[in-house]
Amino acid sequence: MHVAEATPLGRTPTERLESLAAANLRRERRTVRPIDVCSIEIDGRTLLNFGSNDYLGLSKHPDVLEATIEAVRTHGVGSTASALICGRTEWHERLERRLAEFEGAQSAVLFPTGYAANLGTIAVLAGAADTVFCERTNHACIIDGCRLSGARLRVFRRDRLDRLATELDRSKSGRLIAVDGIFSMEGDVAPLRELHELAVRYDATLLIDEAHATGILGETGRGSWESCGIDDDSVIRIGTMSKALGACGGFVVGQTDLTDLIWNTARTQMFSTALPPAVCAAVVTAIDVIAAEPNRRLHVRTLSRRLRSCLADVGIETLGDPEIPIVPVVVGDPKRVVEASSQLADRGFFVPAIRQPTVPRSSDRLRMSLTADHSFEEVERLAAAVADVVSNGGAT
Ligand code: PMP
Repeated sequence: MHVAEATPLGRTPTERLESLAAANLRRERRTVRPIDVCSIEIDGRTLLNFGSNDYLGLSKHPDVLEATIEAVRTHGVGSTASALICGRTEWHERLERRLAEFEGAQSAVLFPTGYAANLGTIAVLAGAADTVFCERTNHACIIDGCRLSGARLRVFRRDRLDRLATELDRSKSGRLIAVDGIFSMEGDVAPLRELHELAVRYDATLLIDEAHATGILGETGRGSWESCGIDDDSVIRIGTMSKALGACGGFVVGQTDLTDLIWNTARTQMFSTALPPAVCAAVVTAIDVIAAEPNRRLHVRTLSRRLRSCLADVGIETLGDPEIPIVPVVVGDPKRVVEASSQLADRGFFVPAIRQPTVPRSSDRLRMSLTADHSFEEVERLAAAVADVVSNGGAT
């Protein structure tokens, strides 16, 4: 059989890796040793970590660790089966209830990851005769979910909601608007009030991925939904337990019939092994900490303001909104951003270089993420190092 050379199977893995390397897009497998919430060791060097999504520092909180270890002792490591067979333990049930209560929702359903939650849920909600309206910088798993659903895909921009309104008005099919609450590579909050108004006006379903907002935004930490004042339980909210909740796994909260339907039909839930029970115990405890210690989210939000203002003082532009603990600085091309990241490592900071396809071509960027365990002094030192590397080309 003849295979065209340009197809993936028409080129060897070596050839494909060489193309990636030539474009400065080949990623290294780096091995990291966690030291504490704020530092990691890479290649024998201890670096202050500005790359993790552990926004509240809960991955190493003593209460969370204790609950996890205890649950491993009583329930073992793996859940041993999918939730539909016999993998759903009392810890899964407790976590579903705790998440629903924390989120002010009727009900919750768990997934192995946030990626699987978006993929599986969107594919349940929409079908070939429907239209999904997807914001252009939504996370890959929302885009993949839209594709998997087989629905007609319309991409919109959050700064051109007039065009979205026109498209919604024209569309005759079932409509789903899917959007990130916080955009993970831009650090801004979606215009959710306006999107909610459009969803109501055009009878569309609104789905918000709260991955980076859970535990951070809103008065009680429910996310961007809460901070934008949307109180409508027909809105579907997807979350991950891998960021502010410090563990791993995904969830959906909404009306009970919806979460039951998802539990019954979302293939990424049905055909994948349930989360380890100890992970569920960890997250139940992490939610208790979030409720008991609101200062964590207030501190990380203030740190973001401080970092942004320190960078602005030395003429460095950042993307995003003031209190979002994701602070991106666009460098512009893959080679320069990797160099900038490596020069920051020489100065004792881990700041990841984010390249295409994660962000659009020519907008390669440094992405600093903050945790509640960072101090103002650390953030000020980081700003000085970034200024040195970005403005002065990193002269040592
Ligand atoms: N949504 C967004 C916006 C994300 O940034 C991520 C993870 N980077 C996910 C979903 C996927 O979550 P998980 O890591 O739990 O699969």
